[in-house]
Amino acid sequence: MKISNDGDIDVAKVLITPDRLQQRVSELALQISQDFSETGVALVAILRGSFVFAADLIRYITIPVYVDFMSISSYGSQTGIVRITKDLDESIRGRHVLMVEDIIDTGLTASYLIQNLRRREPASIEICALLDKSARRIIDLPIKYSGFDIPDVFVVGYGMDYRQRFRNLPYIGVLAL
Ligand code: 5GP
Ligand code: MG
Repeated sequence: MKISNDGDIDVAKVLITPDRLQQRVSELALQISQDFSETGVALVAILRGSFVFAADLIRYITIPVYVDFMSISSYGSQTGIVRITKDLDESIRGRHVLMVEDIIDTGLTASYLIQNLRRREPASIEICALLDKSARRIIDLPIKYSGFDIPDVFVVGYGMDYRQRFRNLPYIGVLAL
């Protein structure tokens, strides 16, 4: 039986349920609210994959929070070179920035983005990633706020896609390719 009801390619199993997602996202938000209580925090969400995560995260954050978006497309796998297709709307200079990502795999994309954002002279910059495929990392990258460590499987749902599909699933699923 198809559990995603979305064409021929289907989700093989549910990896993280909606309840576990909400529980963990609220824990991350609590930690963020404590850590940035003196300064506030500027979320920079990386589109498109992180939009659902970011939307849930900000609603659990209890301190002043600023949100901006950056949209990227990868030039090809394993290079880490990304094209910025939509840049931030406002300056992050002097702000305490939290880059919000859906998933860190090799770490190349996040590392490239962090370098790019650092040049804009934020007061500080940290990474918040919902999912971490830590076994796949090829670049050392400190992830201060990490939701779940997951194995090397291809996941979809909760904002994440396979060929632009499955972003609407309320859970994280593993795809049967
Ligand atoms: P990295 O540069 O860390 O290898 O790749 C990070 C990006 O690859 C993520 O932001 C995400 O867009 C994509 N990615 C990596 N693993 C997965 C996965 O399992 N599912 C989906 N939908 N995207 C993934
Ligand atoms: Mg991404």
